[in-house]
Amino acid sequence: MIFQGNVIRVEKTEEGFAELVLDAKESKVNILNTATLQELRSAVDTIKKQENIKGLLISSAKESFILGADINEFIAKFELPHDELLANLNFTHSIFNDIEDLPYATVTMLNGDALGGGFELALATDFRVMTNKAKAGLPEVNLGIIPGYGGCIRLSRLIGAENALNWITSGKSQPADVALKVGVADSIVDSALLRESAFDLLQKCQLGKLDFHHNRDIKKSPLSLRPIEGTMAFESAKGMIMKVAGPHYPAPFAAVEAIEKSAHMARTEALQVEAATLIQVAKTDVCKALVGLFFNGQALKKIAVAAQQLARPVKQSAVLGAGIMGGGISYQSALKGIPVVMRDIAEAALDLGMSEATKQLNRSVEKGRMTPAGMAKILGSIKPTLDMSDIKAVDLVVEAVVENPKIKLAVLEEVENTVDENAIITSNTSTISIDYLSTALKKPERFCGMHFFNPVPLMPLVEIIRGKSTSDETIATVVSYATAIGKTPIVVNDCPGFLVNRVLFPYFLGFNLLIRDGADFRQVDKVMEGFGWPMGPAYLQDVVGIDTCHHCIDVMEEGFPERMKFEETSILDLLYEAKRFGQKNSKGFYHYEPDAKGRLTKIFDEEILGFIGKVQSQTKEFSQEEVIARLMVPMCLEVARCLEEGIVASAAEADMSLIMGLGFPKFRGGALRYIDTVGADKFCALADQYAHLGALYEVPDRLRTMSQDGSKYF
Ligand code: NAD
Repeated sequence: MIFQGNVIRVEKTEEGFAELVLDAKESKVNILNTATLQELRSAVDTIKKQENIKGLLISSAKESFILGADINEFIAKFELPHDELLANLNFTHSIFNDIEDLPYATVTMLNGDALGGGFELALATDFRVMTNKAKAGLPEVNLGIIPGYGGCIRLSRLIGAENALNWITSGKSQPADVALKVGVADSIVDSALLRESAFDLLQKCQLGKLDFHHNRDIKKSPLSLRPIEGTMAFESAKGMIMKVAGPHYPAPFAAVEAIEKSAHMARTEALQVEAATLIQVAKTDVCKALVGLFFNGQALKKIAVAAQQLARPVKQSAVLGAGIMGGGISYQSALKGIPVVMRDIAEAALDLGMSEATKQLNRSVEKGRMTPAGMAKILGSIKPTLDMSDIKAVDLVVEAVVENPKIKLAVLEEVENTVDENAIITSNTSTISIDYLSTALKKPERFCGMHFFNPVPLMPLVEIIRGKSTSDETIATVVSYATAIGKTPIVVNDCPGFLVNRVLFPYFLGFNLLIRDGADFRQVDKVMEGFGWPMGPAYLQDVVGIDTCHHCIDVMEEGFPERMKFEETSILDLLYEAKRFGQKNSKGFYHYEPDAKGRLTKIFDEEILGFIGKVQSQTKEFSQEEVIARLMVPMCLEVARCLEEGIVASAAEADMSLIMGLGFPKFRGGALRYIDTVGADKFCALADQYAHLGALYEVPDRLRTMSQDGSKYF
């Protein structure tokens, strides 16, 4: 043993090679945190001092290679003053450069995933041998940063600017065959042959049969690009990023610019460009928000894992109603391996449910993601039926019949009389109180809401609504079932609109007031899309359905009259009365017509001005800031209120619900993160500016205190 640390050991092999093994003692995975980098520094210094070393092998004793830098350290690190952060990066560069400059050949054995900093370490060696299950990638842009341990520089020189830009700006992990094709990997072998193959490379170099200097020189020399090639690669990457990531995500652009700017520089200078660019993006609010989302996601995973302790197994489920939602939920359950009884009262609904599932699966087969046999198995695990007694033996029921309280009460009562006494019963209602529905049951403790979003296969969120009598075991079982069928569950307490709709409608009400006060709805849509929403509020209401929104507003008005009830007629009322229901009947705020491919396209139609004229006494120009404030303030305040009232347990869960359920702009991190970013004091001052518009703009108590004591949600 040449070196022994907590994570790294270095041994000398019989053949005279040094083998640096990453094997973190107290963790299942290797991570490049500060302590590991310090150990790596010492290990490399030790190796450099050794005499008679003929080659270096870097390997991992874990299932994966190295999963990247330690994200837990990011926020504190990124807040360091510029020079300290730069010194930090240069420290790692010095280690990787030393590895790259060793006087003998170096090879990394990628036995499993090599991500971020882990992959950048592998790029510092002359060769990389991969197993076929290993993946390599630079996921930094997903966290709002760029690779900062030499990844931008070394990868672009190794595989060319175009390939490297594709890897870096997509942030995706790449399978071994792709790595081999582009030249990241020198060979792919079975796990059992990995070591042998790595040794073979070192031996060939030692015997002069293979020139490791050649590989090394490519990485250390400027990019070999003719100006025209460079312009094409960089400009087309920028165009692609604009299309895919959009203007709100600075990191992918920054990566292109770092590579472009450093293309003609030698290693040291080029690494400085990369470091300066990383520091720039690491200090943005977008980076903070995206790193925050990563932690929110981890928190949700922990909740789901904890639920498993108390959950009852769900081996068979049932869905009542085979409509838009019921069909989707049945498909999703079957797709993820939990057989489902799909019950409806109409044969036609069952047929439609099955044909929709068949269509979805056919698409997977066509794309080569599923075999016909796999498809048949999934379809075979959905049992369509008209007969209620078929649900007798299921462990969990999702009621998804029409949104009518009387029908739901009757259906739930019948369900309880049919299933086993331990079966869990849930409702997919979007507006009816869970406590009210539970009155249909003799055992309300086994009942809760399970609110899926439309379209079920695409929308990740499921709101799980705890009623007053719901037991912990019921919640745990439903959380586990939702997780098992590939969804992200968030538990909330019962209230009108639950969490997601409760915070969406204040936004729509803010929109109604803005239209009343003279705004042009097209401008409002444009501004809110510019803010980062996938669609503006008028368009969104057309997509959801003007009738559905109108019904929800009734529920919200009744639930929160002090904030959400407005006596005057709104634009939504007028469109509803005129049966302009939005996309579903081709007319709402906009007019809808199918394009050449049959997709509905929105068109401005003068007819709408007649309706607008009835609620507006005058037209008025609003600045972008004002439009944003008048819509975002009521939404964010309602989220803050839900947290204060305990409707949702944590800021992380609240923000994730908005991102997954409403398409809240990810780069802003969610509503509460947005308040943090603006600053609670400034945010409250903004809300106060609009106090004259009503209680919708009233700041709840805890947020007011936060604005005074400077505390934050995150
Ligand atoms: P839908 O009208 O498409 O489907 C309802 C189905 O229930 C119909 O097929 C109907 O035949 C069936 N049905 C009626 N009575 C029944 C009974 N006694 N037993 C079994 N089946 C019965 O409605 P949907 O859009 O799928 O909505 C279903 C539920 O999901 C509602 O509670 C709705 O509020 C909720 N939801 C809908 C959406 C959405 O966007 N559509 C989103 C979230 C939640």
